[in-house]
Amino acid sequence: MTDDWLEIPQDSAFTRNHLPYGVFSRAGENRRVGVAVGSQVLDLARLDIPHASAFASPSLNTFMALGPEAWSLVRTRLQFMLGDEGFREAVSAQLIPADDVQLHLPIEVADYVDFYASEHHATNVGRIFRPDSEPLTPNWKYLPIGYHGRAGTIFVSGTEVHRPAGQARAAGGSVTFGPTTRLDIEAEVAFVVGAGSASGRPVAVSAFAEHVFGVCLLNDWSARDIQAWEYVPLGPFLGKSFATSISAWITPLDALAEAWIDPPSRNPVPLPYLDDGAMRSGLDIDLEVKLNGTLVSRPRFADMYWSPAQMLAHMTVNGASLRTGDVFGSGTVSGPRPDQRGCLLELSWNGSEPVTLDDGSRRSFLEDGDEVVITASAPGADGRTLELGEVRGRIG
Ligand code: CA
Repeated sequence: MTDDWLEIPQDSAFTRNHLPYGVFSRAGENRRVGVAVGSQVLDLARLDIPHASAFASPSLNTFMALGPEAWSLVRTRLQFMLGDEGFREAVSAQLIPADDVQLHLPIEVADYVDFYASEHHATNVGRIFRPDSEPLTPNWKYLPIGYHGRAGTIFVSGTEVHRPAGQARAAGGSVTFGPTTRLDIEAEVAFVVGAGSASGRPVAVSAFAEHVFGVCLLNDWSARDIQAWEYVPLGPFLGKSFATSISAWITPLDALAEAWIDPPSRNPVPLPYLDDGAMRSGLDIDLEVKLNGTLVSRPRFADMYWSPAQMLAHMTVNGASLRTGDVFGSGTVSGPRPDQRGCLLELSWNGSEPVTLDDGSRRSFLEDGDEVVITASAPGADGRTLELGEVRGRIG
């Protein structure tokens, strides 16, 4: 490899081998697609690269719809241009300091599905809510459980979250209405579908990379009191649909080539359409959750029972088609240790063991003004750690 003309600080989240995609604007200009490089944003629509016109668009969808060959072609070209002295002038002219741009929701979200793929999370939630029965439901190890969420309330990182109001049942059994008193987070990894699929044609686990464009972090804000009252028998509804936050930067799947690992062993053996034994289907992504600056959890995506390829295969096995811009979340990422729990419900054990923050205050659930930041790292292609785009949100 040639010596890069572009110097990227060692501590930068966005190396030349990462190149996450986002949508940005400067004052008075249209929204368009860029990639993050170091502390700058590369304005792709103004570069002489393949598919440049697809980047003069207010979302990534136009580019994502072109499919994996186009994704690969552009990525390879950008990496070459960022390393080759001959492109220094042309590329430098289109680099904008990140501080000068506003970031927007990077994709036009089509459908949104959220899974429940962490055995540790599902077990903890089962113990909290159904202490007298088996923590996992009988179907849990046969299929990745999920539900369809609300695509229209997915927001970009940094968007203020408003405390929802709704019905809840008080401890004494009376039904009340008012602002949630149990506002929570769920630290998740999300997958963005680029290339769609035809109705009636299930997508095999092995076809994951033909459809999934990239990965980001997701915070599935949850009102536990609303959720607990409404979720039987049809699952989450208003306790979740008020807001879901995702990163401003989407990490392309190609950037995570070194992060694939074997998933945990499954027992019973999954049905054939969920058999991902021929691939390294787990992802070595380490998350960190900070609440008002205090590190409260470090969940590992490597512990997830169901892999993203199995999630994709399951959500299409009935013939449901994929669309460009579909997003599916992993569900809360939790590990076996108490400091690896990805939501406050688990961290505070439903309020019985409040979390102590660095300022001495305690939290069972979120208070107004609280800010939650989820970050994550994974092995990068250059031996350096790759940092996914953060997802940040403050309760307004
Ligand atoms: Ca969730």
